[in-house]
Amino acid sequence: MAIAGAGLAGLSAAQELRRLGHDGEISMVGAESHRPYRRPPLSKDYLLDHDADVALPGTGELGVTWLLGQAATGLDLAGRRLLRGALPSVPFDALVIATGVRPRTLPGADGLRGVVTLRTLDDARTLRDALAGRPRVVVAGAGFLGSEVAATLRALDVPVTLVEPDRVPLRRPLGEQVGAIIADLHRAHDVDLRLGRRVSAVTGAGRVERVHLDDGTVLAADLLVAALGAEPQVEWLHGSGVRLDGGVVVDRHGLAAPRVAAAGDVARWPSAMLGGELIRVEHYSNAVEQGAHAVRALLGIADRYDPVPSFWCDLYGHRLRSVGLTGAGYELRLLAHEPDGRFLAEYHHNGRVVGAVTAGFLRRLTTYRHLLTKEHA
Ligand SMILES: Cc1cc2nc3c(=O)[nH]c(=O)nc-3n(C[C@H](O)[C@H](O)[C@H](O)COP(=O)(O)OP(=O)(O)OC[C@H]3O[C@@H](n4cnc5c(N)ncnc54)[C@H](O)[C@@H]3O)c2cc1C
Repeated sequence: MAIAGAGLAGLSAAQELRRLGHDGEISMVGAESHRPYRRPPLSKDYLLDHDADVALPGTGELGVTWLLGQAATGLDLAGRRLLRGALPSVPFDALVIATGVRPRTLPGADGLRGVVTLRTLDDARTLRDALAGRPRVVVAGAGFLGSEVAATLRALDVPVTLVEPDRVPLRRPLGEQVGAIIADLHRAHDVDLRLGRRVSAVTGAGRVERVHLDDGTVLAADLLVAALGAEPQVEWLHGSGVRLDGGVVVDRHGLAAPRVAAAGDVARWPSAMLGGELIRVEHYSNAVEQGAHAVRALLGIADRYDPVPSFWCDLYGHRLRSVGLTGAGYELRLLAHEPDGRFLAEYHHNGRVVGAVTAGFLRRLTTYRHLLTKEHA
């Protein structure tokens, strides 16, 4: 078997194959030079603590052939080979595509030092080094990543301006009222929050000095973190015959083509919870579950892929946790909101609960998990 993308979903696929007793060759092709590691600490502990560990255990015991530091450049579906530029191609009998996503960049800011994105361990090292001089930081985008980075930088007492085009942070994934709670959390921690604004230009002599907003405001800055969302890494699959539409489209079992599966941030699948609508999820637990599921799909022993999604996110000492479907598209009911920022919200669709999110009411979330898992079974 070959796995394209040596990240979390790819690792989970390899682990599942071994767990099922297969001792054949597994080739893991990875663009990064690292074995799979945990990305969540990169916006949290890793920026705070130089000893923070991002290693994923068990990579040494899998008997995988690691082909790292060189991206797959193409897929020859008929010939069953992964292409790697001038390097020898990698033959496979079955393939898992798990190439994840890459961060969107700010147009016009290319080449300016001090403009960074955060996806990889190398990105996090660059950001951590840049924080040493207590720079004035602008974070563009108050989604999960931008909000977490802002919160972590405030823990380091770094001054942060957080710029978000929407009315509140995280409105689309969590809804207006929850976004308003998160806005209050940012303000309570002295983040200079600029809502309804976007970064329109970045200027400076070789490095960022000024960040321009679309209302004419000019912010003095030493560092700009672009947290503008991400795009599936699928360019290498163009013309391969695999269906691409906002990611690698897979069928209800997780197959993109005969003997080819896709998993993790790159994969888009028909959600049973949403009546077959194609969805793509950029969360840790999905990468783990779908990576393992992809292998079962390739072996012909998989049920429909139909997870109850979940995520977590750390903000100012609060751990936000979700279960099921959340977002501005559902009716939001705020059930609890304490002055210290703890809250509990549930999401309704067609008259029934489809998800919940909380900071601080974890036990209640367990109840939702049971409910949704049971309804779902
Ligand atoms: C900073 C940060 C914080 C996060 N925090 C949280 C959190 O708190 N909670 C949560 O639920 N989720 C979080 N996530 C999301 C979670 O980490 C991802 O959902 C998960 O890593 C996705 O795994 P993946 O294997 O699909 O993709 P990845 O882990 O991105 O792995 C894909 C790999 O494929 C490689 N690749 C790309 N193209 C090619 C190619 N052509 N050939 C070979 N290799 C290729 C990439 O370089 C990458 O190494 C966070 C993500 C980031 C970046």
